[in-house]
Amino acid sequence: MIAPDRHALTPWTAEFTDARLEADYRRSVLPRTAGQLQTALLVIALLFTLLGLADYALLGASPTFFLLLTLRVLVAIACLLTCLAVRRQPARVFRFLPLNPVLWLGCLVIILIVPLRAESIGIHAPATAVAVMALYLFVPNRLPWMITASLLLSLGFLSAMVIWAAVPAGVTLIQAVVLLFANTVGLITARRLARLQREQYASLLDEHAFNERLRNEIGDHLHLEERLRQMAGTDELTGLDNRRRFFERADQELRRALRHGSPLSFCMVDIDRFKAINDQHGHSVGDLVLTQVATRLREYLRGVDFIGRFGGEEFVIALPGADLAAAREVAERLRGCIAELPHPDPGIPRRLSVTIGIARLAPGETTLAPVLKRADQALYRGKARGRNTVVLADEREEPGLAAVDG
Ligand code: GH3
Ligand code: MG
Ligand code: MG
Repeated sequence: MIAPDRHALTPWTAEFTDARLEADYRRSVLPRTAGQLQTALLVIALLFTLLGLADYALLGASPTFFLLLTLRVLVAIACLLTCLAVRRQPARVFRFLPLNPVLWLGCLVIILIVPLRAESIGIHAPATAVAVMALYLFVPNRLPWMITASLLLSLGFLSAMVIWAAVPAGVTLIQAVVLLFANTVGLITARRLARLQREQYASLLDEHAFNERLRNEIGDHLHLEERLRQMAGTDELTGLDNRRRFFERADQELRRALRHGSPLSFCMVDIDRFKAINDQHGHSVGDLVLTQVATRLREYLRGVDFIGRFGGEEFVIALPGADLAAAREVAERLRGCIAELPHPDPGIPRRLSVTIGIARLAPGETTLAPVLKRADQALYRGKARGRNTVVLADEREEPGLAAVDG
């Protein structure tokens, strides 16, 4: 967020007090302002040239006409060259050079028209007031330089009127008031414009900063949401999916299996005599064993399989695409890898072991509960048979397969 005082404007020139902000602002309006200046310079060049026709009508092909024409062409060429320079390097639009001397040259020619075309002072005087307004409102320039050029034109024109124009003092006075009015209106309007444009830019910056903050907050929020979702589906101790997440994924697998008619098997895994570990070594050692077993099981699973902590020291594994034979192979491998883990009590020769019950989704089954129940029943049969074993449910389904005790 940009601090509010960074947006402060200088009272007279209506530019940002913060130089960097002012530079950023100018950069943001550079292409548009450069385009405006080029248009203004082309219009000035055209106007100066076309008004040569008026000179000819008034002066004929006299030396004065040719002198004026030369001056007009000079201004037009200077304007066109400046236009090219700005086109080449738009950043020149905010510089003093080359624009301002060209404007002064234009002002000088307007002033010189007073002695050279004295009889047309009646239309030349109001046209000068229009030129003053144009310097404020039509030619993009910095405010102090606008004032300089306009005052040069106004004071020079009035002086020329006093010196060369054969008009009553009252007319000169009226022209002075008109030029003062043109300068005042031009200055106030140009200042207001400069102020408004910068205020608009500042509020755009605020809006960007606000949007950026909002985007960050949304990002944080999504990150937090993702973390919460992760946490909500993860078992804190083992880092495995919890029951809820496991069922979400298993449901998806169930639908896929039903759609493709592919097999889907489940293993229920329970650590043998775990209570004794807790009782003899304490709950924290029990926790450690649980974590070790969970990590081992996860490591030894195939990429497509997934595991969840079903509760206590019991785990459930989904084996997509596996029939009972394949599931038994996986289960045997798991049982073997757990048996490699050291028992927390080195004094006891017994190793850690698990009992695993396996069931396969039966034809016509469209929910998970029955198959998980059969896997659980198989697990309990395995416990009854002495543990450290893999037991198949639905043995009749694949007669070649029988329970394998470890
Ligand atoms: P079995 O071979 O028949 O499975 O015997 P067991 O002792 O493993 O089974 P039982 O169900 O009698 O005991 C399971 C124990 O697991 C009881 C409970 O205190 C413990 N337990 C459950 N959750 C946790 C846990 O998060 N951390 C620890 N350390 N122990 C747990
Ligand atoms: Mg147990
Ligand atoms: Mg148990």
